[in-house]
Amino acid sequence: MSTIRLQDVTKTFVKPLALGRQKTAQNNEDNIDASQELAALDHIDLTIPDGQTCAIVGPSGCGKSTLLRVVAGLETDYTGQVFYDDQEMTGVAPKERYIGMVFQNYALYPHFEGQGNLSFFFKVRKIADKEAEERIKVTSEIMGIGFNALLERKPGTLSGGQQQRLAIARAIVRNPRLFLFDEPLSNLDAKLRMQTRIEIKRLLRRFQITALYVTHDQTEAIALGDQIVVMRAGKVEQMGPYLTLLQRPVNTFVAGFIGAPPMSLFSEGKIGDGLLHLGEMTLPLPEAVKAHVHAGQAVILGARPEAAQWGDGHAVVAAGLRLRGVIEVIEPDFARRTQLLYLQTGVFAYTALVPLDESLAIGQTVEVVFPADQLHFFDQSSEQRLG
Ligand code: ADP
Ligand code: MG
Repeated sequence: MSTIRLQDVTKTFVKPLALGRQKTAQNNEDNIDASQELAALDHIDLTIPDGQTCAIVGPSGCGKSTLLRVVAGLETDYTGQVFYDDQEMTGVAPKERYIGMVFQNYALYPHFEGQGNLSFFFKVRKIADKEAEERIKVTSEIMGIGFNALLERKPGTLSGGQQQRLAIARAIVRNPRLFLFDEPLSNLDAKLRMQTRIEIKRLLRRFQITALYVTHDQTEAIALGDQIVVMRAGKVEQMGPYLTLLQRPVNTFVAGFIGAPPMSLFSEGKIGDGLLHLGEMTLPLPEAVKAHVHAGQAVILGARPEAAQWGDGHAVVAAGLRLRGVIEVIEPDFARRTQLLYLQTGVFAYTALVPLDESLAIGQTVEVVFPADQLHFFDQSSEQRLG
């Protein structure tokens, strides 16, 4: 087990400018070999405490896989440093790092049965059969019902989900000091994804192995991550427990990324007379925000759909952002007894989560209030949180 620390890590790729560009008479070969440095990782500082699982989320191409590959030692040409505990890892080969890796494609040994896939590592390391058997037995127990049956079969005869369970077992059986997962469930269907997610959670709890878990699925990130890292364009925007990211996003990017659906953002607010003027509305500023703003400053206001108070125009009591809008789309969630409304005022588009038993129709005009103490304020030009 290890604390993993990245210190000022930058990894650049050379990106051809002409990629995918049409060759025309005006734009000929001159441009073809023009190239540009692309920072897949841009001065990353990150610490994953010993035994914790850190989920990494962010848009496609933001550097998540590159980050894992740098930690694994699969990328060597980078600047900055990677530490496992106090050991700086430059020059340590991937196979000497004691990592369990599980990627999207399973990369099992096709000519071995499940058992062989698990024991191969012990054979190579000349570890006694007895010890290997014991570890395989413990791993099978953790992997749960039906796993033993996979040990007698070759990968080619297994479904995608079964192969991925085997790949996860193969990673754990080696007693790694670090787990790296790169979207391990994204090729599985919804039901298998849920089952396998629970197995992974059981593994991580049982062994308390430090883990980095890349996913584009927030449900997975919430379920597995003690902390969540939000990345954008090679940078870490914010790291923290899910609730912190929800309640105190550091900028509009995190606010607009975390949550399903994310926070609604209302731009073109203006500060004047210690108040926020937004469209026709005027809102008081919380004390914590007042200290950080000046007259004339442009502000983006944020409100989470689940903060919406519902009262159809008369029962609503809270002071806050009061909006009358037309329902454009309704998404019912029968399990949670809620419905998500996509609303439009003509100026603003926003979402509100309301009880399922309200009988509503598309095209209907409704009023919701986002209470004043649950609004978020951001500077419009820097997009940073205020207060
Ligand atoms: P993610 O996993 O978040 O989708 P990646 O880490 O795979 O993102 O990629 C980050 C950026 O680096 C992307 O712009 C990608 O195109 C680029 N990139 C990744 N690997 C290479 C490579 N081997 N050569 C050139 N560019 C790459
Ligand atoms: Mg990736």
